[in-house]
Amino acid sequence: MQKVSYSRELEVRGSYDVVVAGSGPAGICAAVAAAREGAKVALVERYGVVGGNLTAGYVGPILGMVGKGTMRDELVELLGVPENDMIGETGRAHDFERAKMTLAQFVNHPNIDVYLQTTVTDVVKEGDTLKGLVVTAGEGQFVLCGKVTVDATGDGLVSYLAGAPTEKGREDGLMQPVTLEFTISGVDENKGVICIGDVDDVKLGDERFLDYCMRLAKEGELPERIAAVRLHPMVYPGYRQVNTTQVNGVDMTRVEQIFKADLELREQIYTLLDFFHKHLPGYENCRVISSGTTTGVRETRRVMGDYIITAEEMAAGCRFDDVIVHRAEFIVDIHNPEGSGQAEDHIQYCDPYDLPYRCFTPKGVENLYTAGRCISGTHRAHASYRVMSICMAMGEAVGVAAAMCAEQGITPRKLDVKQLQKRLTDKGIELYG
Ligand SMILES: Cc1cc2nc3c(=O)[nH]c(=O)nc-3n(C[C@H](O)[C@H](O)[C@H](O)COP(=O)(O)OP(=O)(O)OC[C@H]3O[C@@H](n4cnc5c(N)ncnc54)[C@H](O)[C@@H]3O)c2cc1C
Repeated sequence: MQKVSYSRELEVRGSYDVVVAGSGPAGICAAVAAAREGAKVALVERYGVVGGNLTAGYVGPILGMVGKGTMRDELVELLGVPENDMIGETGRAHDFERAKMTLAQFVNHPNIDVYLQTTVTDVVKEGDTLKGLVVTAGEGQFVLCGKVTVDATGDGLVSYLAGAPTEKGREDGLMQPVTLEFTISGVDENKGVICIGDVDDVKLGDERFLDYCMRLAKEGELPERIAAVRLHPMVYPGYRQVNTTQVNGVDMTRVEQIFKADLELREQIYTLLDFFHKHLPGYENCRVISSGTTTGVRETRRVMGDYIITAEEMAAGCRFDDVIVHRAEFIVDIHNPEGSGQAEDHIQYCDPYDLPYRCFTPKGVENLYTAGRCISGTHRAHASYRVMSICMAMGEAVGVAAAMCAEQGITPRKLDVKQLQKRLTDKGIELYG
């Protein structure tokens, strides 16, 4: 491999108490939580919109649950998808277009500088201590210094650049497939089914809907790989959020793999549309109105921290003395890394479980937290805590912790977790019981 050496002095554009990289469900909550504690915060986002999968990714409904009183409750209310809108086990997908504004208003706090269209490309370290992020924006590169940094990039990029150990996928390295979600309108609600996924036994006539789709796929009407047709309800009648396209064997941290996967996913959208028109009662006149502006990534790096949580612990409803997210609840939901639908061992029910503080402190790096899908856990554990309700609660807890560290002039490993728990419960967040 040819290499060049490259170095230059960069301007320090700002010095903050807390720098949050990534503005998905975890990042926006981390930034706002830290700002509400009085910290001066930078929120850095590579896209031109905040929200991550809540906006650019077109992902919904907001799944999973956590103990009462977190920012997750505030956000589902703001996004117009409160609990009373639940259908069976799930809710409706929110309005992604409106969410672009709502979430921008949410982070528009006097203590937060939001850097849109600004990509983290490197880190500044002194020994093991993270001092700041090198970012690239329209005017070139500059540095944002932070007393504490939160890696909410989903991909664990900051932690990786800072030298923390990371893992990807299951033992053979395969990760869950990538998917491009899209929205359709024009569904006849008197006839059009809703199908949440494998856990759903919805029928079309006498046949299970997913069996019907697979039967037609075997007859050549649809590629088998995309026969798990998941049609989620949205806040508007006649709309569906379709979570069905998929490409396997893609590592989205490898830039050379992205375009081909994205193109294939975009072609699958129209293959599915034809299938809906021909074979799904109530969907004869539906049309695609939008899709994610970025490929949906379920899984990339998991950053190994001071504790690595497992799915077995979660299934047993684990409790920890250093709990910071309480009663997290979602199945282990593994979309098949090597074929259609869900992995064979995909569904494992979890008793509401806790996430300990130590899952958020990456090994070998000081002044850094993770939040969101990149925290420290196994491949199977990740398949549960990656849902957005749980990521929001993680972000909030870590945002408060980061603000406390900055105020006390200490590193995350020196923070008194009991003090953090008291601060969280004082805010009304349920942590015990
Ligand atoms: C297809 C699909 C379907 C899903 N379905 C559901 C569902 O129905 N319900 C549910 O609750 N969850 C679902 N999930 C899971 C959920 O959406 C994610 O796990 C969750 O959004 C993770 O939140 P996050 O904040 O960690 O990351 P993200 O939402 O991915 O946000 C990360 C943010 O960081 C930014 N970023 C990344 N790198 C950089 C960088 N270098 N510099 C600056 N910014 C950067 C990104 O642009 C992004 O905005 C689904 C996921 C996928 C992919």
